[in-house]
Amino acid sequence: MSATNRTFTMIKPDAVANGHIGAILNHINKAGFRIVAMKLTRLSVAEASEFYGVHSERSFFGELVEYMTSGPIVAAILEKDNAVADFRTVIGATDPAKADEGTIRRLYAQSIAANAVHGSDSDENAAIEGAFFFSGREQF
Ligand code: ATP
Ligand code: MG
Repeated sequence: MSATNRTFTMIKPDAVANGHIGAILNHINKAGFRIVAMKLTRLSVAEASEFYGVHSERSFFGELVEYMTSGPIVAAILEKDNAVADFRTVIGATDPAKADEGTIRRLYAQSIAANAVHGSDSDENAAIEGAFFFSGREQF
């Protein structure tokens, strides 16, 4: 399958700390995504600042970097037809209070900042974000 059928996700520190890794991976598999690559890791401040660099001028940037470096995350590349858009549907709105019933954020997120999961917003960013965490030989 081509890279356009891939997206990148992180299970964020709140969801890892709250014991939701297994439930979220189960949800992802049941939604029809295949896991191409996966690891448990922790972002440094420099890495989180680079990953979320597009938000560097936003008021919440400092809070976002502090939160994303507060504990380990699960990084993964996922594959499915229409992966980017379909995964955004599966995770729900950024603010879990506004996310649809049954979405990952509605089920497992704490707040707009600690919102359980990340999902790429374009095919281009999915490729950039996947390459940020995984070499070619770590992708299956
Ligand atoms: P992500 O990129 O993590 O998948 P998203 O695309 O739904 O989330 P973005 O607008 O890209 O949302 O924001 C990136 C992240 O920044 C959010 O997931 C959230 O953790 C944090 N964030 C966004 N808006 C706020 C806010 N108003 N206050 C605090 N944190 C925020
Ligand atoms: Mg985003």
